[in-house]
Amino acid sequence: MRKCRYCAKPSGIFRGSHKECKALHKKGLTEIATAIKRFENYGGDPNDLESEIRHIAKYSFITVPGAKQVISKTWVKLVDDVFDDGVLSRTEENALAQIKNQFSLRELDLDRKGSHTRVAQGAVLREVLEGNLPTTMVVVDPHPFNLQKSEQIVWMFNGVDYYEQKTRTEYRGGSKGMSVRVAKGLYVRVGAFKGRRVQTSKTMLADTGLLGITNKHIYFAGPKKKFRINYRKIVAFEPFSDGIGVQRDAQTAKPQSFVTGDGWFVYNLVSNLAQM
Ligand SMILES: [Zn+2]
Repeated sequence: MRKCRYCAKPSGIFRGSHKECKALHKKGLTEIATAIKRFENYGGDPNDLESEIRHIAKYSFITVPGAKQVISKTWVKLVDDVFDDGVLSRTEENALAQIKNQFSLRELDLDRKGSHTRVAQGAVLREVLEGNLPTTMVVVDPHPFNLQKSEQIVWMFNGVDYYEQKTRTEYRGGSKGMSVRVAKGLYVRVGAFKGRRVQTSKTMLADTGLLGITNKHIYFAGPKKKFRINYRKIVAFEPFSDGIGVQRDAQTAKPQSFVTGDGWFVYNLVSNLAQM
């Protein structure tokens, strides 16, 4: 006789669980996810949320790690939904932080698809779109950039591929598609970045290094190339799915592009910082 993996009572010779127990377990998992989503949308007391989830778990044969797992998964899903929608609001950001803290969710679990990083990026982007220099400074390791007075690093990217285009191309003024005005800034939604990659037959990998974004310049430092570009010298930014392209105003300037892995963030960040 086997025992039910949920209630531990005999479940017959062939069955590893009772049908009813399995259904109850599944229903419980859905209820936990629903409770988390409701908290994200409507807020509330995180302690009440925890009591509710404990209650659901108890009657659905869900262990503490099992509950944590479904909460982490729901958190990641919520982040996806938030960014499909537009900019991360303060309320949304706070609710996500409350859920994370209340259940001691691990950043490792939340960042598997980069969702935890995306929340930090969303917060920085919101500040910039509202016309503020982000005050929540991201931890910046010692960096090689020689900053000017009143210049501040807003974000750093590691292991960035820097491409130079072999020939100068005319800037075509392109449509940005799906851009929306947010407070002061112009925001291009995540969905608009699909498909277009930096690398083409006309581009050449020139170096790989550190990309520093400040309120005044784009800095790059690699083993072969070190330079900075003043925003005032840039006539066009080009959005790519995996990075950003810039065109300087000099007659001889050839397009330069940086692969950060996430075009949505770097494009919105840089194009809006340049307007400040
Ligand atoms: Zn059972």
